[in-house]
Parts: sequence; structure tokens; C-alpha cells
Amino acid sequence: MPDVLVAGGGPTGLLTAFELERAGLDVLVLERDARPTQQSKALALQPRSVEVLGDRGLLADLEPHVEARLPAGHFSGIPIDYSDLPTRYPYQLGIEQAHVAAAVEARLRTPVLRDAPVTAVEQDGHGVTVTAGGRRYRAGWLVAADGGHSTVRTVLGAPFPGTSARYSMVVADVTLARRPAGLADDWQLPSSASGFLLPLAGGRFRTIVYGEEQQRVGRDTAVSAAEVQRALTAAHGPEIEVAELLWASRFGDASRQLERYRHGRVLFAGDAAHIHLPVGGQGLNLGLQDAVNLGWKLAAQVRGHAPAGLLDSYHDERHPIAARVLVSTRAQAVLGVPDPDAAAVRDIVTGLLAVPEAHRTVAMELSGIGIGYPDTMGRAELPVTSDGRGVLVGAALPGDWADRVALQDGERPQLVRPDGYLVWAGGAGLDAALNRWFGRPGAAADLSRRAG
Ligand SMILES: Cc1cc2nc3c(=O)[nH]c(=O)nc-3n(C[C@H](O)[C@H](O)[C@H](O)COP(=O)(O)OP(=O)(O)OC[C@H]3O[C@@H](n4cnc5c(N)ncnc54)[C@H](O)[C@@H]3O)c2cc1C
Repeated sequence: MPDVLVAGGGPTGLLTAFELERAGLDVLVLERDARPTQQSKALALQPRSVEVLGDRGLLADLEPHVEARLPAGHFSGIPIDYSDLPTRYPYQLGIEQAHVAAAVEARLRTPVLRDAPVTAVEQDGHGVTVTAGGRRYRAGWLVAADGGHSTVRTVLGAPFPGTSARYSMVVADVTLARRPAGLADDWQLPSSASGFLLPLAGGRFRTIVYGEEQQRVGRDTAVSAAEVQRALTAAHGPEIEVAELLWASRFGDASRQLERYRHGRVLFAGDAAHIHLPVGGQGLNLGLQDAVNLGWKLAAQVRGHAPAGLLDSYHDERHPIAARVLVSTRAQAVLGVPDPDAAAVRDIVTGLLAVPEAHRTVAMELSGIGIGYPDTMGRAELPVTSDGRGVLVGAALPGDWADRVALQDGERPQLVRPDGYLVWAGGAGLDAALNRWFGRPGAAADLSRRAG
């Protein structure tokens, strides 16, 4: 019996499984689809996500698929400079989401169980029983990372308040038989205009289109090549011709968030916990940060040394971060509305974002570099390259925490959580910080034999 089941093998579920496995747990990912998705979806990793993947030694695996290093993000298409952010990676890494997921999946000890859609979840005081692909699986805990239409959320009846979609858009990857003049071959910041074309590897282009037709057509109607052609012709003129529609999907500006990320022994993460318009490049990054915040806390819970409240701090820390992203993406959606009043607001906001302090504030937020949690001292700047343990620098461990905290060389004394946040920076209080985040010394259930 695994320690933890994960519903959904998207980037959030896979990185959560990776975190749990490197803390020594047995994990089984149950994935609905028979094969890894070919949908490119997110095309960029924000700097904080690049740091997280770098700390875990995953960047080398991504390198062959990196298409660009973009020294800026954008707020509804308004460029936001990242080049002087306080990080080793002051850029967005241009890479298709499918490659990020594949790189993480390749590092899992237990292969993802595919063709296993979760259809039912029951929990009691000792564990969770999940029905997937007609079979029943039992574990102590379930992480629900089964995406924006989460089945687990539905079967548990978890309240998911927010607003329904008012605008409908189409995302598509296409190849072109004829290209419009002046189409760039290198990666650029996506514009917020309907019909932008971003070149991907293999002669493909990513486009997002929205217009009157997309508002009129039902959300469940399949996207045809002819519909995409009409929208691209409207944006670029008659010289553009679609050769092949590779994949396409309708999406909207629905904006919702779970009231609680924890329902007993079920913890929600990624799009299963929050949905919003994919503008500004935030969704994938939110899911990856959920995964690294949750992983070590749930591992400590399973291993029996989690201090009181540690697991619940996952909700307390991550819920406000996603709530803020929902505010940001709602604001960005308004700025993108093709309407003279919205254009006026956009004009004012563009001017305000030219003020260095405002620009910096938005850059810290969009990049994830500014994410902080109230009970921590912010993001640590040193790489946390340990094996899922916290890191203590410049001091000796005052007790038997070695199974949870690794010693690392460095000059500035600091104690860093496994997800890279600073909780002690020298002086008094090391014992208290260790107890607060890593539990009592010793006394851990011995799962270390399974750590790999
Ligand atoms: C057009 C577009 C562009 C985007 N651009 C960006 C961007 O630039 N930057 C960014 O950060 N984000 C972006 N996003 C958002 C990003 O793609 C999502 O936030 C991200 O996919 C969330 O990952 P996830 O693992 O939480 O969910 P998903 O990727 O949806 O993964 C969920 C997984 O669960 C599986 N599943 C579903 N139901 C079940 C079930 N019942 N049982 C078992 N498995 C199940 C699915 O098959 C899937 O594999 C974009 C999204 C879209 C649509």
C-alpha cells in the first residue's frame, strides 16, 4: 500500500509525487489519460519555478527543450523587466509545459499508473480509498491534482466559489502553409491581441484567438481549423493560411478558488484548487509552488514527526498566494478587453508601471521571487540542493534532526525549509525554529530506508 495516492499526473501532481518520493515515501500517481498529453499549454516558467527546479537538479533535463530565456514577464501584455531581480535566474524559461511534466515524471521511482481515471473517493480516520479505472486503491492520504475540472473536488462536494467565464477564447497550435509577412521566428512576449503567433519547435505556432465567433459558439463545440483560420485571417489578413490544426481547446476567464485546500485526508493542489485566466503566465507556476510547499509537510506528517499545525500551514500559506493571483489575472483580463474604457485604464496602468517602484513590485509578484509566507523570513537566496531535507548553514545541529535537516557549507548562518524559505538567520532561536518547522528531534518513524 502506498503512503500517498496522487490523482492527476499533470505538472502539479508529478512534482508533488517527486517531493514525496525524495522524502522517502511510497507514492502512486493515478492518471486519467493513457498517454502523456501533447498539449503544449503553458510555454514559460517564471524565475521562482526555475529556482525550484534548479534546486532539484531538473534543469539539465529541461535544457534540450528550452526555446528561449525571456528577460521579462508581462502584465496583460505590458512588458515587466526581470533582468535585475535578485535571483540566479532573472528570466522566464521558454519551454513547453509537456516537457516540464515529462522531465519530472522521468525521475519518479514508481511509474505513473495511466488509464486510471479517479471516479470515487472515500475517507475514514485511517486513510483514503480511491476508485480509479474500476479498481480500488488505498493509502493514508490523497493529493488531488486532477486539474481545473477536478473529479475529486466534485465527488467531495468541496465549495469552489468564484465567477463563471464571461469571455471565451481558443488556444491552438498550428502549422502554416503561408505566413504573414514580418512574422518573427524567435520567441517574443505574447501580445494580448487576438491572433498572436508564437513560433514553437518543429515549425509549429501557438496562437490564442478570441472574437465574436468564440463568444457565440458553445464551450463544448470542437474547434475546427476553419474557425482558427477565420480568426487568423481577421488578425493578419488574407496572406495567412493554416496547414494543420495540431490541437486546440476552448478556455475562458472563470476565476474560482477552493475555500479549503485540505478536506480531511485529501489535499488539493494546482488547478484543482484554483482556476483563472491564463494571462501573465501564472497557473503552472502556482501549481509547482503548491507542490513544493505541500510535499515536505505531508511527508513529515506521514513519517510521524510533523509538528502541530505543519500540514495545515499548507492551506494557510498557499491559499492567499493563489487568491492574489486571481486578483491579478482579473485585473489583467479587464485591461485586455477591446473597449475604449478598458483602453483608457490600460493607458493609465501602462504609465504607472513605468514608475520604477511600481514596476519592481509587479515584477517581484509575477516572477514569484517576491512570494513570502508570514511565518518565514522570505525566500532564501542560497540554493537548497539537499535531498528533500531542510538546510542548516553556519551552525551545528543542537539535537537529532539529521534525518530532516542537512548541514550545508556557507558563511551566513541560516535555517532553510525544504521548499527554500528562510526560518532562522543566526542569533538566538535556532532550537525553537527547528522545533517549529521540523518537530521534536529524533522520534521519527524510520522511512529513510526508502529514500532514494
Ligand atoms: C492556453 C493556456 C496557456 C497557459 N499558459 C500558461 C503560462 O504561460 N504559464 C503558466 O504558469 N500557466 C499557464 N497556463 C496554465 C497551466 O497550463 C495550468 O495551470 C497547469 O496545467 C496546471 O497544472 P495541474 O497539474 O495543476 O493541472 P493539469 O495540467 O490540468 O493536470 C491535471 C491532470 O489530471 C488528469 N486528470 C483529470 N481528471 C482526472 C481524474 N478523474 N483522474 C485521474 N487523473 C485526472 C489530467 O489528465 C491531467 O493530466 C496556461 C493554460 C492554458 C490553457
